[in-house]
Amino acid sequence: MEIKKKNIALLGSTGSIGTQALEVVNAHPERFVVEVLTANNNSDLLIQQAKKYKPNVVVITNENKYKEVNDALFNLGIKVYAGQQSLEEVVENENIDIVLTALVGYSGLKPTIRAIKAGKNIALANKETLVVAGDLITKLCQQYGVSIYPVDSEHSAIFQCLVGERFNPIEKIYLTASGGPFRGKKREELLQITKEQALKHPNWEMGFKITIDSASMMNKGLEVIEAKWLFDLKAEQIDVVVHPQSVIHSAVQFTDGSIIAQLGIPDMKLPIQYALGFPERLENNFKRFSFFDYPELTFEKADMKTFRNLQLAFNAMEKGGNIPCVLNAANEIVVDAFLKDKIGFLSMSDVIENCLEKITFVQNPTLEDYVNTDRETRILANKFIINGHIN
Ligand code: NDP
Ligand code: MG
Repeated sequence: MEIKKKNIALLGSTGSIGTQALEVVNAHPERFVVEVLTANNNSDLLIQQAKKYKPNVVVITNENKYKEVNDALFNLGIKVYAGQQSLEEVVENENIDIVLTALVGYSGLKPTIRAIKAGKNIALANKETLVVAGDLITKLCQQYGVSIYPVDSEHSAIFQCLVGERFNPIEKIYLTASGGPFRGKKREELLQITKEQALKHPNWEMGFKITIDSASMMNKGLEVIEAKWLFDLKAEQIDVVVHPQSVIHSAVQFTDGSIIAQLGIPDMKLPIQYALGFPERLENNFKRFSFFDYPELTFEKADMKTFRNLQLAFNAMEKGGNIPCVLNAANEIVVDAFLKDKIGFLSMSDVIENCLEKITFVQNPTLEDYVNTDRETRILANKFIINGHIN
């Protein structure tokens, strides 16, 4: 019997997740077809990818690059669009079976909403979408009968541990964290951290934003909130365990006390493939894990005093409403400022905390409320940074 190929819209194809997703497609040409590719600025790589994978449509969000991309692809019969609006529209194309959202930050929110409303299943790398508007997104998924397949390695692990456990309640989950490049350091040692130091992650090669988030532990904070929405959990059911080897990708403890974990080498191709191929496990020749390469697996408590972002994320999750959206927007601004040497490593949490205190609380936000909260928070965070003082 011939197996139907899945047509993929790959949003953010030029990024770290995007390029690895294309490696997964490469490994399974009989299973996956690329229908849409998108980039923000990187026209050279987008053109190169389009020539190789021959999608039906490409989108370059930066409109100044439209002519260059269109000139290069017009003769190949590939449709080229530009701008944010096109990114949102293109996911509705009837040929698409699954949308892989590998955009970074808040930019993933609106295209994901449009894709859900068009009934497309989502392979979700863009965790910020669930952090900003988890309530809205999960309700829309129920309304439109859409599934979210997690790509984030920890959430893919939990998702895999839950297969076949539909009738067995979760007691808690253990979200593992590498601890990043500054694990074990205290606040005094983090005062003079440079962006070059923060960009050196011990186990994973990723985009700039998530690499800084990993160094500051905000990534784990965002993942705690992501897990809450994906698996319908309360704060007390989510434990963070620092596990520097990044081999156990996360674990679920059931109500009988049994724990199931998922293991593998740190390689995002695996969770990407699982999300795209679900419910099947597709054979591949990716590198295998060996227990003897890792004679010691170790575990530590997370240091939430030094890495305050993690505590702030737990607090934001418990408060709910638009507060996780504030956390995300303030974080995007401070990460950008840190990467431009405008703010110190530890000040990032100070600015976020101030925004969390000052932005007006909305208990049951609409999409419009989220959009306003995001905009207001960005303005406020930038003011804190420009003024050079916090209070
Ligand atoms: P990258 O920065 O490497 O890539 C982001 C992609 O999105 C690029 O294609 C970029 O285009 C595009 N993009 C960025 N901003 C915009 C925008 N405003 N509008 C439209 N397109 C945009 O990020 P990563 O691949 O590292 O991460 C993607 C998402 O996956 C994030 O949410 C991250 O948290 C999550 N994730 C990533 C992991 C990883 O290993 N990298 C692991 C787990 C989760 P261009 O290249 O032109 O700038
Ligand atoms: Mg992760």
